[in-house]
Amino acid sequence: MEIATKVCSMCGDTKPLEKFYKKSGAASGVQSSCRECTRDKTSKLRAAQSPEKLLALAAAYRERNPEKVRAWNAAYRAENRNTLRARNAAYRAENLEKFIEKSRANVANLTDSYVANTLRLKVPQVPPDLLELKREQLRHKRALKELKEFLTESEKAK
Ligand SMILES: [Zn+2]
Repeated sequence: MEIATKVCSMCGDTKPLEKFYKKSGAASGVQSSCRECTRDKTSKLRAAQSPEKLLALAAAYRERNPEKVRAWNAAYRAENRNTLRARNAAYRAENLEKFIEKSRANVANLTDSYVANTLRLKVPQVPPDLLELKREQLRHKRALKELKEFLTESEKAK
């Protein structure tokens, strides 16, 4: 079987089609320059632009293509699950003390984020009334637990 090839418009090399990025709508189905040249061009363009401009471009792209970005992020997370996990673990280990201190404070003070978390939700997803109600419920539960512990202790003391 003969391998489909194409001449790159930039470097002039003849390369198999798989060395070109796909481009829907193009007659050949791929871009006119090969992957290497396309990457090269992209990184040169990128280097020539200011970080602010790049950030703005990225934000605009995200705005235009929320579905694509979501899919891309999900794919990235799936592909890099172990790396991300290792990075998170390393970060937590480094900040363990701070993390524990913060978690304890969150629990002790029944902060919004802690209360929302007991509902398996994020703060913005919980109506304020529900958050307050849940906080109240948690307070009651704690008071009951303390009372129970106190009674158990007194029972033992008898
Ligand atoms: Zn090329």
